Amino acid sequence: MLGLMQDWPLLLHKIIDFAAIQHGGREVVSRTIEGPMHRSNYRQIRDRSLRVAQRLKRDGVRLGDRVATLAWNGYRHLEAWYGIVGLGAIYHTVNPRLFPEQIAWIINHAEDRIVFVDLTFVPLLEALADKLPSVERYVVLTDAAHMPATKLRNAVPYEEWLAEADGDFRWAEFEERTAAGLCYTSGTTGNPKGVLYSHRSNVLHSMASTNGDGLHIESADSVLPIVPMFHANSWSLAFSCPMRGAKLVMPGAKLDGASVYELLESEKVTMTAAVPTVWLMLLQYLRQENKRPTTLKLVGIGGSACPPAMIRAFEVDYGIEVRHAWGMTEMSPVGSTGSIKPVVAGLPRETLLALKEKQGWAPFGVEMKITDDEDNELPWDGKKFGRLKVAGFAVSSAYFKGDGGDILDENGFFDTGDVATIDPNGYMQITDRAKDVIKSGGEWISSIDIENFAVGHPDIQEAAVIGIAHPKWDERPLLVVVPKEGRTPQRDDVINFLQSRVAKWWLPDDMQLVKEIPHTATGKINKMKLRETFKDYRLPTA
Ligand code: ADP
Repeated sequence: MLGLMQDWPLLLHKIIDFAAIQHGGREVVSRTIEGPMHRSNYRQIRDRSLRVAQRLKRDGVRLGDRVATLAWNGYRHLEAWYGIVGLGAIYHTVNPRLFPEQIAWIINHAEDRIVFVDLTFVPLLEALADKLPSVERYVVLTDAAHMPATKLRNAVPYEEWLAEADGDFRWAEFEERTAAGLCYTSGTTGNPKGVLYSHRSNVLHSMASTNGDGLHIESADSVLPIVPMFHANSWSLAFSCPMRGAKLVMPGAKLDGASVYELLESEKVTMTAAVPTVWLMLLQYLRQENKRPTTLKLVGIGGSACPPAMIRAFEVDYGIEVRHAWGMTEMSPVGSTGSIKPVVAGLPRETLLALKEKQGWAPFGVEMKITDDEDNELPWDGKKFGRLKVAGFAVSSAYFKGDGGDILDENGFFDTGDVATIDPNGYMQITDRAKDVIKSGGEWISSIDIENFAVGHPDIQEAAVIGIAHPKWDERPLLVVVPKEGRTPQRDDVINFLQSRVAKWWLPDDMQLVKEIPHTATGKINKMKLRETFKDYRLPTA
């Protein structure tokens, strides 16, 4: 027997409708690329997104068509997203930090018909335009006064283009599983793969990821999403903030410490989210200038592991709660957040700070398991580590156009490519990427663990550990470090330092100094490149 409740489809544009009705005057503040701050609100954003949809329709965009955006976080980008999805078309977020050839590749793979582009990225597209046959028109996210002279096909300034729609329009109607967004993974190995979100998955994910134990957003909040809309679905914040009625503060292109601090204070920000690199810049600025955030209550940190010193700085020095989060593009992206459960709440502060180094626990809607190489499930004892697999309403079931083939195991779980432990209370900790784990004598060594300890050494700025072929053990760890300015870490001293912190057989066989450790387009240590650099290196123990 079926229930007798309404089949109210979970559509993304219903979020902006809701925000306009319940929180119409709630502000959306943007630092524009042109310079000045811009102030709008949810009512205006909704009105203008309706016109985006109407205008796109006039350009011939239909249900299922892909429309790209190559832009910073700002009000026009937000309007473009809602306008695109409200027509049943698909926003394709292009990450400008990818290599130009990759950008061309994904625009062609997506067959984008229209590209919304910020002034910043016009030159980037001009250099590629010859290679982008599917694009019929470029809409530059600016007004006529700031429009650059450009040869981009049918280029128009957004404001003029939008002015040609009168807003007498209704959202399109379709079912909730309709595709809404397309976001490509960085593709550090092989070509990027397209993750295709649906209206339903995005709506459910926004609700689930921003509850009190998650990113914790409510109408009283003023939220600064530094996580870009062009990477990993901006952690859902472009949907969850209007869904919760929170004020939205869009940082544009300026993500340095001083600019971020200025926004935190001037817009009375209470919640913000970004990758650790951004927080390093902010913390450095706060220390240099002897300043402190006065309204910020919660900071979401994820994308790569949050260093212990960063957790301590926010929580102890500034009294701001850290929510360490883990996830990936394929998970919409939030897979876990590290709030303190009642079962551990009474533990000493130091223990809780250490607990926050873990990547947190999975909310409703995300199922997790860890497995060994034979696909046997491993216990949640906080010690055994294995491949982390997930299932849920906002987890990919396949890549766009079937790339990569079948990506689920027989029980419908997706292999994240991460290696993790899960403790008896459900707290998961990433110990490595599966391809970076070091296999020594049939056992696994976690490169991330060693790196985390190594950066605690007073002479070390950054550390990376890679596996090097060894005749007896298969692989042994090599520690690669960037020294702190003016320091020269010594191999034996560092190994000594690690001795009390990791198991003896985990100790690196050698250490090498480098000026710089390579990073991927999204700021992660590029181990593939590092392994390439050290491909001719031989361990002294070999
Ligand atoms: P990209 O590789 O393009 O940055 P993703 O954002 O999808 O794409 O990257 C997801 C990966 O980032 C995860 O599989 C994991 O390896 C890593 N990651 C994300 N959050 C964390 C975290 N809090 N700690 C450690 N690793 C993380």
